[in-house]
Formats: sequence, structure tokens, C-alpha cells
Amino acid sequence: MDTWRSSGAFSEPAPVRLVDRGAKPEGTVLNVLGVHVGGHEVVIMAGPCAVESPEQLLTTAQAVKSSGASVLRGGAFKPRTSPYSFQGLKEEGLEMLAWVRQETGLPVVTEVMDTRQVDAVCRHADIVQVGSRHMHDYTLLEEVGMCGKPVLLKRGMSATLEELLLAAEYVLKQGNEDVMLCERGIRTFEHSTRNTLDLNAVPMLKKRSHLPVIVDPSHGTGHWWMVPWMSKAAVAVGADGLLVEVHCNPQEALSDGPQSLRPDKFCSMMTELREVAQAVGRQISEPRAVAD
Ligand code: PEP
Ligand code: MN
Repeated sequence: MDTWRSSGAFSEPAPVRLVDRGAKPEGTVLNVLGVHVGGHEVVIMAGPCAVESPEQLLTTAQAVKSSGASVLRGGAFKPRTSPYSFQGLKEEGLEMLAWVRQETGLPVVTEVMDTRQVDAVCRHADIVQVGSRHMHDYTLLEEVGMCGKPVLLKRGMSATLEELLLAAEYVLKQGNEDVMLCERGIRTFEHSTRNTLDLNAVPMLKKRSHLPVIVDPSHGTGHWWMVPWMSKAAVAVGADGLLVEVHCNPQEALSDGPQSLRPDKFCSMMTELREVAQAVGRQISEPRAVAD
């Protein structure tokens, strides 16, 4: 018996090490082109679910920036449940994101689905997103751990917080300490919402890890009208940022229209968010000026 024990053959799974709060009690603050994530300010990342055209992306980016978003989101590689749904504009979409970053000065977050896309995504994005469906792709996690860009790691739709933290551990273990954890809703028996946004995750992750925590109320609810409510709740509960889908014409959106806010609704939400942030001793980050 002792021999087995000492050989470690049946040892407990390794707890998190590098992402553990104890490894950096003061907390990690990422600097994405001058936007600080994880500090006093709450960073709002907003934009369409998918990049659809240069005009769509630029118009949406200008609208969310004028309301106070400081990072632009937009998927070029889209992980769709059906292979017949719009799969994204891929490399062309990445180029549109880079162009709109140039035009607006907003840093860009976009998803990478596969190790073969890592180089291209890293060349164009300021933050590399690993989506819910790929949180368990350990080869991809190792690859983004070596890519030199900040990573936004989304919780798998059925992943425990421990599994999310261990997924982040894969990235840090490769030397990339710039990781944000993202709660985006989990699968439960409740079907009136697309997912169940687990806001318990925010204080729990903040307690267990030094990494910034982002909340995605769009995928977390599936309903645009719920997004402002859950965004305010997320900021109240300590989120370091939000990832929000915005579309100028949700009815015509090529993906996730029902959960996308129109720019005017996004704008009123931002006003309310500033008040909530202030009430909990924080501030919504302001977009940076256009790059020279
Ligand atoms: C997204 O943010 O575009 C996305 C596909 O989200 P998730 O991976 O959380 O489903
Ligand atoms: Mn989406």
C-alpha cells in the first residue's frame, strides 16, 4: 500500500499552481495596448458576434466606442453548432478586424478555434479568445500559451471552475501569464435562457485565482433584453470586464441576433453601468484615443 502511495500512482489531481491567488496575491493586471484589465477599471468589450463586412464592423465599432467600450469583439472563425450555419469570414474577417482597429484605435479580441489558425489570429488580434467549445483543447491551450498575445479563456459550457482554472494553468505553464477567465453561462435543466449565467463564478474565481474575470451576458442569457440586467449584476459582483454582443440590425445578423443589443440600447446600458461601477468603488474604462 505504502509503495503505491509513495509512487504517486493514485495521487489526487494536481491543484492549480501558477493561476492560484497565492502565486500573485495582488492580482494580475493585463495591459492590452494601454487598456488595463484586472485593475480598478472595468473593461467593456463589445461588438458583433461575427464579422460580416467591413462596413458592418466599422459602424458597430464606432458606435460601441462612442458609448464607451474600450475593446472591439468580433468573430472571424465561428464555432457553429450546425455545419450549414455561417462559419465566419475567416482570414478576410481577421483583416477587417485589423483595419477597424487602425480606424478606431480599439484593441481587438477574436476567437481561435484550431492550432492551425493561431499564427494568423495572433498576427491580427490583440487578445486571442479560446471559446467555450475549445476550453478542453489542451494542444490549443499550449499553443496560445506560446503565442505572446493575451488570452481570453471562456468557460466550457459544462466545465467546473476547477477545470477552467486548470485550462488556464496550461496557458500559464507555457510562459503566457496574460490570461483572462470568462464566465459565459453553463448548461443546466433551465431552457428559458440559452445558458445559465453562473455569477457565483465571479467571486469564486477571484478568490481562487489572481487572473481577471470577464462576464459574457450575451451567451449567458441568449436574450438581448436580459443583457443590461445581467451586465449590471456582473459588475456589482466584481467582474473586471464584460464581453457584449452588439449588432446594428439584429434581425439580419448572421449569428446570435436574438442576444445582440442595438447600439442605442448598448449606450443606455453603459450609462447605467457607470453608476453601478461607482457604487462598488470602480470605474468603467474609457476608450483610448486613435493610434497614430
Ligand atoms: C463567442 O464569444 O463568439 C462565442 C462563440 O462564445 P462561446 O465560446 O462562449 O460560445
Ligand atoms: Mn455569439
